[in-house]
Amino acid sequence: MTRKLVCIVCGRKFPQGQGVVISIEGKEYTFHSKSCAIKFLRRVIDEAQELGIKRIMDSVEKEFIEELKRREELRKKVI
Ligand SMILES: [Zn+2]
Repeated sequence: MTRKLVCIVCGRKFPQGQGVVISIEGKEYTFHSKSCAIKFLRRVIDEAQELGIKRIMDSVEKEFIEELKRREELRKKVI
């Protein structure tokens, strides 16, 4: 039997394996869709700004940019 989860943003129930689940320190934050997850995360980001989240976002952005560059270089090698 699949576990039923409840979206913490809109209250909709959904089966485990669908939707988006983010676990932090053993707690699960459950969202029935990506848009509910984004809605929640946007507010988290707003409220976390004073805790210095920008530094973390900039460093994650850098990681993604580097990944893109690596992929771009790999593609060039293949051609
Ligand atoms: Zn939802």
